[in-house]
Amino acid sequence: MAREVLRPALELYLDVHAHPELSGAERRTADLFAARLEASGCTVTRKVGGGHGLVGVLRNGNGPTVMLRTELDALPVTERTGLAYASTVPGVMHACGHDLHLAAVTGAVDELDRTRSTWRGTVLVAGQPAEETLTGAREMLADALYERFGTPDAVLAQHTSPSPAGTLAHAADPGTPLMAASASVEVTLHGRGGHAGAPHLAVDPVLTAAATVLRLQSVVSRETAPAEHAVLTVGAMRAGGPANVIPDTADLSLCVRALSEPAVDRMVAAALRIVRAECAASGCPEDPDFTVTARSPALLTDGAATAAVRRAHEELFGPHRVVGTGPLTATEDFARFGAGGVPTVYWLLGVTGAGPWRRARDGGPPVPPNHAPEFAPDARTALPTGIAAMASAARRLLAPAGGTV
Ligand SMILES: [Zn+2]
Ligand SMILES: [Zn+2]
Repeated sequence: MAREVLRPALELYLDVHAHPELSGAERRTADLFAARLEASGCTVTRKVGGGHGLVGVLRNGNGPTVMLRTELDALPVTERTGLAYASTVPGVMHACGHDLHLAAVTGAVDELDRTRSTWRGTVLVAGQPAEETLTGAREMLADALYERFGTPDAVLAQHTSPSPAGTLAHAADPGTPLMAASASVEVTLHGRGGHAGAPHLAVDPVLTAAATVLRLQSVVSRETAPAEHAVLTVGAMRAGGPANVIPDTADLSLCVRALSEPAVDRMVAAALRIVRAECAASGCPEDPDFTVTARSPALLTDGAATAAVRRAHEELFGPHRVVGTGPLTATEDFARFGAGGVPTVYWLLGVTGAGPWRRARDGGPPVPPNHAPEFAPDARTALPTGIAAMASAARRLLAPAGGTV
């Protein structure tokens, strides 16, 4: 890969990694991303979706339209990688690798701009904010993304994964879910506050919450077929203050995932039933509040487009670096870009360096996964791979220069 392509992408990666921004607050990231796209000849439109969403357009004659999508947001995680370019923002970290995705897209667009004579068509770039809250894709689409910029013939995205850097993984069985549908649910349990020394005069929501968390585990273990990919995690339990006060309320945040929307619906209904029943068992004075705050459909990749891109990757990297992967219980709002039958292609980009991979294999510490404070992609291997993977995928789905459209 040309140094002129890799160097600015790497500089962007290091800068954005050191200056992460939370979902919905990606102002600086969007500025830097837009500037890089403009330097590669894109026309950039800002505030698509109302927030920091942006769209870049690179036109190169008649031909298909291929959209490259990247996220812009970071997570409320405190970085513990010890890297020289670690986050300088307290409590915020690019722990999901979205910084690598966006840097790879700028490199791919740069590469396509430099090789315009080899392809024809239109490259759209979607810089999507607020992926971690599963809201950004929906907001960009609701702002007439496809009506304003053209409905793509294919939409491409890649995601970092804790597998060996330099490898790629495509859906082993395109057309079936690669990633799970999900629901996020906020629950408030209403007790009756009082004195810690007189619990018989109160209704303790902390005890109700604890019992609820335990019982919710039966949704998967006892109500879901063992062959089904399903998970229910209570990601947060918040209640109380001083030890000598029984609080009024307790809050739970639930994350429900399964490979189909009906399965998610069934699990959410089961969770609601259990929450209500535990409140009744505790004698809570009020019914619990129960709000679904985010939903995302399962990600089904397109069979023909995935096969074409996988072939391109195998030709470029060699078949030994391209593998198939089964359904995952991660969730992506990228699935929404497939609305209306737009073909989607999605692959996982390995980012784990050889050292940590070998140590984990030999019984050492496990490889830190996405969202962990120690998540540290081996950018020197993963970034050039990500650039080449995205550029070659786009090129395969655009028209060859001189070919028929
Ligand atoms: Zn994430
Ligand atoms: Zn992510």
